[in-house]
Amino acid sequence: MYFVPVLFQNGEPHPIWLPLPIQSETFPSQTPWPWGTEPRNVACPSCSRASEYSESNSHWEQLPFHQADAITKMAIHLLVVPCGIEQCAGLIEILVIAKRGILPPERNGIVRSLNALGVVCGNGHRTTFLVASKPFQAFREIE
Ligand SMILES: [Zn+2]
Ligand SMILES: [Zn+2]
Repeated sequence: MYFVPVLFQNGEPHPIWLPLPIQSETFPSQTPWPWGTEPRNVACPSCSRASEYSESNSHWEQLPFHQADAITKMAIHLLVVPCGIEQCAGLIEILVIAKRGILPPERNGIVRSLNALGVVCGNGHRTTFLVASKPFQAFREIE
């Protein structure tokens, strides 16, 4: 049996299944939030909308057996975009669920379709621009 952390949020119709399955016969006892205490910007793979999530938005769900193979082909990627609001040097970090070994043209396609209005940079600014309007600094697999 596989359990997977799933993120839910008011106003976001799609649950986000994180490709971090753990094999266990019983319900996992650890927190389903893998990132310490930090809230994170996460992009929904279904509608490309990024919003802020924290531990209270996460819970475990049992992964249907037939999806176990599909989820292992996916990875969490970190997209880094410079903020630039009022010359801010901060960075906007958005977690994106995409397949492992994704190629640059596909990465660019994901960034272009991303709706990340209103997510926060490291210095607390809320974005008022489309992230695709700026060259990104990084798009790399993190887990
Ligand atoms: Zn969505
Ligand atoms: Zn900023």
